[in-house]
Amino acid sequence: MPAPRLRSRSLRKVFRKVPGNRVSLQYKRRKHKAARCGSCGNVLHGAPRALPFQMKSLPKTKRRPERPYGGVLCSRCMRQEIVNKIRQ
Ligand SMILES: [Zn+2]
Repeated sequence: MPAPRLRSRSLRKVFRKVPGNRVSLQYKRRKHKAARCGSCGNVLHGAPRALPFQMKSLPKTKRRPERPYGGVLCSRCMRQEIVNKIRQ
């Protein structure tokens, strides 16, 4: 029986091969859901599915695309937003 702190559905089981031809069971955090566009809801490209503490260790350029609304809107919605702003 795993330790009480490991009896949680928020952790996933990972079977890892270890030296000596044994398989050990490790418990890992589940990945977060992919970042989605704030306008249309499509999955954003260029934004990794990482946990917040993993995102912090990444360079800023790898967390989101380097463009206006990068990591917030998808490229199509970003273009539409810019066109709408210019028209105002
Ligand atoms: Zn969008």
